[in-house]
Amino acid sequence: MEEKRAVTMDKLVNLCKSRGIIFPGSEIYGGMGNTWDYGPVGVEIKNNVKRCWWKRFVQESDNSFGIDAAILMNPTVWDASGHTASFSDPKMDCKECKTRHRADTLIENHSKGAVNPDTMTNEEMEAYIFEHKVACPKCGKSNFTNIRTFNLMFQTSRGVTEGDKDTIYIRPETAQGEFVNFLSVQRTTRAKVPFGIGQIGKAFRNEITPGNFIFRTIEFEQMEHQWFCKEGTDGEYYEFYKQKAHEFLLDLGLNENHLRFKDHEKLAHYARAACDIQYLFPMGWSELNGIHNRTDFDLKRHQEYSGKSMLYNDPFTNEKYIPFVIEYSIGADRLMLALLSEAYDEEQLDGGDTRVVMHFHPAIAAYKVAILPLQKNLGEKARELYRKLSKQFMCTYDEAGSIGKRYRRQDEIGTPYCVTIDFDTLEDNTVTIRDRDTMSQIRMNADEVAAFIQQKINF
Ligand code: ATP
Repeated sequence: MEEKRAVTMDKLVNLCKSRGIIFPGSEIYGGMGNTWDYGPVGVEIKNNVKRCWWKRFVQESDNSFGIDAAILMNPTVWDASGHTASFSDPKMDCKECKTRHRADTLIENHSKGAVNPDTMTNEEMEAYIFEHKVACPKCGKSNFTNIRTFNLMFQTSRGVTEGDKDTIYIRPETAQGEFVNFLSVQRTTRAKVPFGIGQIGKAFRNEITPGNFIFRTIEFEQMEHQWFCKEGTDGEYYEFYKQKAHEFLLDLGLNENHLRFKDHEKLAHYARAACDIQYLFPMGWSELNGIHNRTDFDLKRHQEYSGKSMLYNDPFTNEKYIPFVIEYSIGADRLMLALLSEAYDEEQLDGGDTRVVMHFHPAIAAYKVAILPLQKNLGEKARELYRKLSKQFMCTYDEAGSIGKRYRRQDEIGTPYCVTIDFDTLEDNTVTIRDRDTMSQIRMNADEVAAFIQQKINF
């Protein structure tokens, strides 16, 4: 039986905007396509997503190290990586309404996923679109230009005078930062292969397909882990990272039935294996993260273009070799969209009311606890607890409106616990803790609240 989910993209966008999670970018100027700003609640959620990822893939991972590489890199990096030559999308313009589209997306949408454009050449995609009279999603007509390729890298220039400007690129992926620092990390940490380098950072792509909220934006954050290993062990590690990536998503609370693996049918010429984990977003199944066996391609290319040896010297066997790389890459924003979609629920309450509730894992929730004095004149005691708990985790404070309304506001942003201060608190220092998901309440000593919450928010 098909599952009925309350979530739609419109509901999420509206909730995010009204509750300080995500605002349209540059909104007072009419916006700027495919850019979004994280508000006070959203920035906390996104920071928590990144913290959980870092903990799992750097802090708790054997032999893994973090870096934070520069966004602007020597332009030859992008020649070596192949981005200047071929980081492009097949674009087609609608001759009628002048909108620009990706040919592969047109085919995917027209065939409702039955045809996989990844396996087609540009000529085959053109033929499909012309033969099937694929319609423009904007104006409904079928009158497209031929395919032209469109490099997705943003360019800028550097130089102190107009005359000596050099073109440089704003990185379209974080991965090259890990590759060019491979030997520096290995030497300074004295790591032995196999080892990993993790990084979280912004990437920029001049995407031409409109976004589906924060699914596809022109500026986004990637969380990436490259595992350097010896050829021959790569297959085993590829499987290991597939499972580890999947487990991470389940532990964050994504439903197993909303996740699936999808092997790439057309592999890049250097890749030995590649797959995505897809999530059932409100607009349908789409890529959430990628896992790739990139062989020794990247390090070899950097050796060739930089003239610097990328050989690793095995201290046990004295062998010299260029390691293979298993890459695992996930967008922080895309993961956040998956978590928002998964968390969203509308529940019918006794009395006919509906409550909107975000069932985030407590580790992801923006605020771990809301402090709510039952009446304003209990504010002093309530603020005292707020200040104490704020030293340990993000808390919020609310004394406006009925207690029911205040609970609803916290449910909508996914605060897992609400602590109510009442007149008994002044007498015996006990408070009421309400659980977001079950709405059940328990009474406990105010001094025990911090430890209670702390053990719930562990990831
Ligand atoms: P897609 O096919 O969706 O364009 P991709 O295969 O080009 O993605 P990668 O280059 O493998 O993506 O990037 C790794 C991850 O970075 C993706 O799985 C996704 O989570 C995220 N990502 C890529 N492009 C964007 C974007 N424009 N906006 C938000 N996240 C992105």
